[in-house]
Parts: sequence; C-alpha cells; structure tokens
Amino acid sequence: MKNTLLLIILIVLTFSSFSQENFEALRIDYMHSGDHEKEEIDIYRIVAEPYFSRNNDYYRFPFNYGNYKIEVTSAESNELQYSYHYNTLFNEWKATKMAKEDSRTFQESVKIPYPETKSIITFFSRNDNLEWTKEYSYTINPESDFIIRENPVQHGHEKIHNAGNYKSKMDLVIIPDGYTKAEMEKFRKDAGRFRDYLLNCAPFSEHKNKINIWSIHLPSPESGTDKPTKSQWRKTALNTSFNTFGSQRYLTTYDHFALREAAAVTPYDLMFILVNDSLYGGGGIFNFYSISSSDDKNADFLMVHEFGHHFAALGDEYYTSDVAVDDYHNPDTEPFEPNITTLVDFESKWKDMVDKETPIPTPAKDKYKNTVGAYEGGGYVEKGVYRPYIDCTMKSAQYDNFCPVCQRAIRKMIKYYTGQAIR
Ligand SMILES: [Zn+2]
Repeated sequence: MKNTLLLIILIVLTFSSFSQENFEALRIDYMHSGDHEKEEIDIYRIVAEPYFSRNNDYYRFPFNYGNYKIEVTSAESNELQYSYHYNTLFNEWKATKMAKEDSRTFQESVKIPYPETKSIITFFSRNDNLEWTKEYSYTINPESDFIIRENPVQHGHEKIHNAGNYKSKMDLVIIPDGYTKAEMEKFRKDAGRFRDYLLNCAPFSEHKNKINIWSIHLPSPESGTDKPTKSQWRKTALNTSFNTFGSQRYLTTYDHFALREAAAVTPYDLMFILVNDSLYGGGGIFNFYSISSSDDKNADFLMVHEFGHHFAALGDEYYTSDVAVDDYHNPDTEPFEPNITTLVDFESKWKDMVDKETPIPTPAKDKYKNTVGAYEGGGYVEKGVYRPYIDCTMKSAQYDNFCPVCQRAIRKMIKYYTGQAIR
C-alpha cells in the first residue's frame, strides 16, 4: 500500500496509571430530553479524564457551526476560558415525526480542560432563526468530591498513525463495535484500512504530518450489530444499531457514555466508531462522532463522507433521500454548514471563491463542470438550498472527491485542531 513507510506504528504501553494531578480534562455527562418543541439538559455526572488533546492557547471555538455550544467562564471574573460547538442525536430526533408525539432522553457529553478555579459551564442552543439562546448553567468546583476520579478501564490501544505530540496535533480515535475477542486481529486490519481511507483522501492527504490516529482494542460479547427490521439483535460493547429514527441505513449508538468511557484511554479530539458488518450504513454528527460499517464495497467513500459531517460540519449536498427529518433547513435563514447556502447570506459562505463570470444560481450544465458556483438542490431539498459544485463526496458515493469548498472547510478545521492561525 502506498505511503506505508510514512505510517509509523507505535505500540503504546497500556498499563500506565494516573494520579489526580494528571487529569487534564473534565467530562460532563448529561441527559438531553424533550420533543420537537421543548428541551431540557440535566447533569448526570462529572468525570475526570487523563487527556485534553488541545493547547489552551486556542480555547475559543472559531467557527459558528452546530446547533449547540458550551461556554466555560471563570466564576470569579466571568472571563471566557473555553468554548466548543457541536451537534447531537437529540437535535435530529427533534426534527422527526416521532418527536411531534413523544418526548425522549439522550445521553450526551462534553469535554473541557480541567479548570483551575471555580467555573461556570453554560449550554446554548439555537432557536428557529439560528440565534443562540441559553439553556442551562452549572457551577463546577474543581476540588469537589462529586467529580469521579477513576482511571479509565485500560483496554489495549495503539497509535496507528503518529504525527507527534497530541497537544499540537489533530487526534482521531477509532473504536470498534461488534468485534469479539477472537476478531480483534480483524479489527486491527480494518482500522488500518480506515486510517488509510482518511489519510489518502484530499485534503487530509496533504496533512498526514498533523494527524494522529489511535485505535482501542475494545471487544464485544457478540459479533455484528443490531438490524431491527431484520430481527437481528447483537450484544455489543457500544450497542450500535441500524434503523435509527426508522431510517434503514442510519447506523448510530444511543450509549454515548459507554463510547466516552472507552475513548478515555487515549488522547482524542474526534471519535470514529467502526462497526463489524458488511451492510452499508453509517452516520456523522458534527463534533459528536462518526460511524460506519466495515465491509461494504463503498466503505472508503462512507468513511470520509461521514467524517466530513463529523469533522467540518459539512452538510449533505444531495437532495433525494430517505432521511427521517422534516424541514431541516429554514429557507429564510443562512444554514451554518459551510458547504450549503440558501443565498440569504452568501457572502458568509464561498462567494469569494466564485468567478465574476459564473452566474448565481449556476445552471448544472457541462459548461460549469469543475466550476465553483451555487447549484440548486442540497441539504435534502430540491429547491431553495444550493451546493457549491455539481458533484462532491458530500453528494454522491465517490471517494476522494471533496469539492473545493468542502476542502477549504476541512483545511480550516485541521488548522484549529493543530493550533495554527485560521485564514
Ligand atoms: Zn462539497
């Protein structure tokens, strides 16, 4: 395989232990409950974690992406210490038909640098006009006995691509589900294959020296995953399942705390779940996690497509699908995804990348092939939402085909995770 020489495999000692001073992060586990109209956040527990994988110099999240954000401020001075934006499964649930009849609760977690003094964490969500509204605040005393300071369960783990110290690199951890103890060798091979899918896809391929990839050898009691419509049920470590919200190919897990507990043994910015199954399916939620099945023939495309959602908040550029959400984009507001626009505020998107001669909207004709424009159809709807390119990995099943606008968004995000100035 090409570039094998660049991939330095480093076995990490797995029996290290941590004293209290070595905890770099706090993980706030909370429940996010509600229906299509109302929502509520309640703290479940606070857990000290060994690693926080970024330097404190870039504490403020620089992009206005996501439907949720947290801000951590000093309780004394009110100064902002940290912020982070993300999306959640709850947010997708809210947009389903089911949420018009029932309310449900979901596990979610956020990780923050271990605060030195008393701090306040505030959760915000967006309203229908995409403006931020405050949901909930909680005061964290870093000395509190309520903070759980256990060492994470030490499953074996490996650094399967080494770019350097986790503090200044983007760290991705691959976590298996549905691989039994006897299938761990298969997982190691699969994880290596998925590592190469990412590192050989532009623009990630230009930044191999900025990306660390880790894998965790977490075994499951049974092999495969749940397929509710086929009456197939499997007991697995992360409890993944197809058919999320009634959408056949939508593979996710609701057991978010189990995922976080498993991931805590390595430094990570991003979690990718690799599910031992040959059926096509996956999912990717911005700054939450991405997930895909291991053995479909389009696994290379699936991995980078879902990671595009997860990593750079990329929206789907297709407009025919069986996604289980209604009215995902409000036509009167500019969506936050960097690669789709309603043209309400095109300046804030990729207008600077469009030639003066290219008409907006741009007709999807051969003449404009390989031309950045604004093509109608995207974000699950045919009308009123525009995409930047005729085709892209965020539109159709083609590996290594991110359009110039998606590539720019990915490059900027790599800069954030590696502490470089973002331009
Ligand atoms: Zn694109």
